[in-house]
Amino acid sequence: MDFSLSDEEKAIRETARTFIRKEVMPLEQEVLRRERAHEPGLRLDELRELQTKARAFGFWGLATPEEYGGMDLPAVMQSLIWTEIGRSWVPFRFGGEADNILFFANDEQKAEFLRPTIEGDRISCFAITEPGAGSDAANIRMTARRDGDDWILDGEKTFITNGNDADFAIVVAVSDRDQDVRAGGSTAFLVDRSMGWRSEFIPTMGEGGPASLVFDSVRVPGRNVLGEVGQGFALGMQWIGKGRYIIPSHAVGVAERALRMAIDHANTRETFGKPLATNQAIQWMIADSETELEAARWLILRAAWTVDQGADARHASSMSKLYGARMVNDVVDRVLQIHGGMGYTRELPIERWYRQMRLLRIFEGTDEMQRLIISRDLLRGYTEIGGHLA
Ligand SMILES: Cc1cc2nc3c(=O)[nH]c(=O)nc-3n(C[C@H](O)[C@H](O)[C@H](O)COP(=O)(O)OP(=O)(O)OC[C@H]3O[C@@H](n4cnc5c(N)ncnc54)[C@H](O)[C@@H]3O)c2cc1C
Repeated sequence: MDFSLSDEEKAIRETARTFIRKEVMPLEQEVLRRERAHEPGLRLDELRELQTKARAFGFWGLATPEEYGGMDLPAVMQSLIWTEIGRSWVPFRFGGEADNILFFANDEQKAEFLRPTIEGDRISCFAITEPGAGSDAANIRMTARRDGDDWILDGEKTFITNGNDADFAIVVAVSDRDQDVRAGGSTAFLVDRSMGWRSEFIPTMGEGGPASLVFDSVRVPGRNVLGEVGQGFALGMQWIGKGRYIIPSHAVGVAERALRMAIDHANTRETFGKPLATNQAIQWMIADSETELEAARWLILRAAWTVDQGADARHASSMSKLYGARMVNDVVDRVLQIHGGMGYTRELPIERWYRQMRLLRIFEGTDEMQRLIISRDLLRGYTEIGGHLA
């Protein structure tokens, strides 16, 4: 068994690391200052400028197929790069990306929605969650009613990332009440903001924030159906499933950076005449953090590797999301504890991570939903205990 990375993986990771260190990390103090003043840490024009710089560095569209100008990187490579991004608290991501399900668009839709999103000229959001349907996404109530060649959309979506900035929404609505939402009863629509939906920012404990979207008899032309009529729920699940190993990959970068800060602090801060690091209570927090970090790293890489094998990665991805999200919360909590009062201030990024990372246990499938998936697979005999090594 070989746990080492290939030369190519190491080289790409090093280039990403260099970019983050030289171009992104210098903005960190300014991000904290702005957020303390209740301003966005990074403005959209600044994000775009960084993404353009990164493009010149060779980073554009990590997951985007080459025919759209992307890198089409294997999942393991994407995971490694997201870990590098996670090392900085600047809300940066590489450009050239689009929601995975936008690739199901037809040629006309690709020109109108997909390509401008990849280029950063348009902003999308994906909306399935409703006030009455989160974990139980099949309980959505937004209706899509046919009217000639058009559809009329009525209802409300909530907690939609980018919902207040998006030019268009990918919306899943009930298009046939007589059928199960999961099997033919729902459809995904590409809905321009100019068609009449409204959004309202939702303040949260994190920086930035999602929005609710209100559809009050919004008329959508039939040509704006994404994929097939009746395929909405399946597309929605594909959108959600895609990020499951990416989210904890980013968390590993956060945990690594936070743990490094804790180690440096423990070695320099003195109490009772000696460095904090000489206390077993502190040493154990560091040891537990490193052990959990390492366990998360291999769960995630195993999930990414499964994707690269072309095998069904749902089980492995759910385990990596469940464990990685928990891990980063536990590590950041210990790092905050090791920093004492300073950890609680807004001078340092620790309290920011503490707030931001909490979301990881909720969105794109809560901890409980990941457990449901993992246990259901086992109880039904769909997966073996021990996975591919069993
Ligand atoms: C900041 C943010 C961004 C988001 N972005 C998006 C987005 O872009 N697009 C989108 O569509 N949605 C988005 N969401 C919605 C997110 O996916 C949902 O919040 C999530 O799926 C949980 O749904 P809920 O909030 O309705 O909680 P509920 O489903 O009401 O669950 C409440 C609690 O009960 C638990 N629970 C529920 N059912 C069970 C059960 N059967 N067994 C055990 N426990 C259970 C849950 O795990 C949770 O802990 C976002 C949410 C947030 C907070």
